[in-house]
Amino acid sequence: SDFNKIPTVIMMGLDSSGKSTLLYTFQKEEVMKTSPTVGFNVATLNVDKNTALTVWDVGGQSKMRANWKYYLEGCKALVFVVDSSDRARIREAHKVLKVILSDNNMKGVPLMVLANKKDLPNTMTIREVCNQLDLPNYKHRAWEIQACSGLKGLGLKQAFLSVAKLVK
Ligand code: GDP
Repeated sequence: SDFNKIPTVIMMGLDSSGKSTLLYTFQKEEVMKTSPTVGFNVATLNVDKNTALTVWDVGGQSKMRANWKYYLEGCKALVFVVDSSDRARIREAHKVLKVILSDNNMKGVPLMVLANKKDLPNTMTIREVCNQLDLPNYKHRAWEIQACSGLKGLGLKQAFLSVAKLVK
């Protein structure tokens, strides 16, 4: 079916980075929230009239980390959400990103980093987030970084259009 042709994009990031908010804002009506104990949302995002993406929000709490590898199979892009106002956890975010990308299923899979919460004052710049996550070191992987605000709906359309381009 057509549904099976829709590229699967995995969305990950630390807890509170803003993943759920971002999904709800982007396409409120299509997000189906499962019970918090299962801990993931799934959404099919209509990016434009020719592009839909299925996004799995698989959380980022440590209790979820052990299960990540089950979601990564067949994944066409990784969207990694970072709270750009949270300098205290950027190292933790970097560590987690490294673990995800080192999984065998993630070889050559493109990466989109969303520097979220850009509506807040005194956020890290794109350059800072980029360097903290060591993105320039990924020479054999397509990657991009964009600022956004899931809360205000800023930069989301653009970000998911870029993701759609990355998976093509
Ligand atoms: P998740 O654990 O990654 O799904 O994060 P949530 O979507 O639950 O968001 C965690 C907290 O950050 C909530 O209080 C949100 O309202 C807040 N938040 C999420 N996105 C933004 C944003 O873009 N800007 C601001 N200022 N707050 C945000």
